[in-house]
Amino acid sequence: MTAEDRLEEDVWERKYHLALERMERDEREFQAVEELLRRLALRLAALVRNPDDDVDALLGRLTAALRYGPSAASIEPLLDALSEAVTRADERAGIESPAGQSEADVGDIAEGDTATVAALRADMARLQELLAVVSARLGDMARYLAGELEETAAGEGADRALDARVREEMRELGEKTLAAADLVSLQAEVTARLSLIDQHFREHREREDARLATYRERAARMHHRVEELESQATSLQDSLRREHELALTDGLTGLPNRLAYERRMADVESEVRAGTGVACVGAFDIDHFKAINDTYGHAAGDAVLRIVGQALARELEGRAFVARYGGEEFAVVFHDASPAEAEAQAQDLCAMVAKLAFHASSKPVTVTMSGGITRFNASDSVAVAFDRADRALYAAKRAGRNRCVLV
Ligand code: GH3
Ligand code: MG
Ligand code: MG
Repeated sequence: MTAEDRLEEDVWERKYHLALERMERDEREFQAVEELLRRLALRLAALVRNPDDDVDALLGRLTAALRYGPSAASIEPLLDALSEAVTRADERAGIESPAGQSEADVGDIAEGDTATVAALRADMARLQELLAVVSARLGDMARYLAGELEETAAGEGADRALDARVREEMRELGEKTLAAADLVSLQAEVTARLSLIDQHFREHREREDARLATYRERAARMHHRVEELESQATSLQDSLRREHELALTDGLTGLPNRLAYERRMADVESEVRAGTGVACVGAFDIDHFKAINDTYGHAAGDAVLRIVGQALARELEGRAFVARYGGEEFAVVFHDASPAEAEAQAQDLCAMVAKLAFHASSKPVTVTMSGGITRFNASDSVAVAFDRADRALYAAKRAGRNRCVLV
């Protein structure tokens, strides 16, 4: 996961928590309003028999409060006042209405009128049923929404739009509830509004699902692209490394080439000047190589170069660095070797080459090599040291070949 992905996830998580908190707050508010509506229904049921001016005035204020966004804080004091006004009206009509009257007591209000009591009880039962349905539906929605938020971490804009639509439906429900002429039309109104709210939730969920699917698809594409780029970067690195190796390798012998030698010598130069190392340089050249080419052909000459080069590398492995300097010439860097030690090693190399068994047309062919050795001084440049080794090499040639000279 990239830093960008993590950041996006953090933002979504924060949005999710905010939206969840808001929904929990709303759910508590819904429950409070529902409880108050239940109490309102009880009070109104009690009032059916005893119309009263005080109660009418309070109902007017309650209607206004519901119209401008019902909240527990705005409704509760009005309901308390309404409850008291109803109790007073009941008392004036000579009906017992003790404080803390419960739903079960409501049926006792109209003992004297059996038909009214029966109608009231039937209305109460329907109202109870309706409230149970409302409560269950609101509970479903709250759970539905919480689940949805968990799954989709819905965007804040979409949440706000849903919020506004639900509030609008609730407000209209409040108005219609007050305007409803009877319980049957009230029930129809409530059911219709709940269906609308339900539909808003479903549409919201569908939109969020589509958004999530798009996001997932985009994330998968990005992931795939990142993998592609990673593999491209790896193969690019590999080919660069190969090219780098090729640039420093001699194609015929597989030995390091002159460029590699010069790089190595740049390091030697720094070490020697810093006093942290000593080294000697050797220039080696195959004797009478032109004659080998002329006698046995260029391909045979190539084979001799390859075999001699590989024999030198094998012999010096772990002790010194050898490169094909050019033509039939090799350069050797003797690390941490005194001039005498380097000279001894160089003599051994010449002896080793002379012993290599070459054949042409089943006849043995002798190949020899000469070398010039010199110490790399702190005042030397790479080129100056090599020139000195080269001059020593020609001294060896002049002295009869198949030998080494130290200067
Ligand atoms: P000396 O003992 O004085 O070194 O004599 P030499 O014949 O070895 O020296 P000279 O410089 O006269 O000849 C070197 C020859 O090496 C000339 C050139 O054609 C040949 N040569 C250079 N590079 C290659 C190569 O890659 N393959 C082959 N087959 N021949 C090469
Ligand atoms: Mg030669
Ligand atoms: Mg030569």
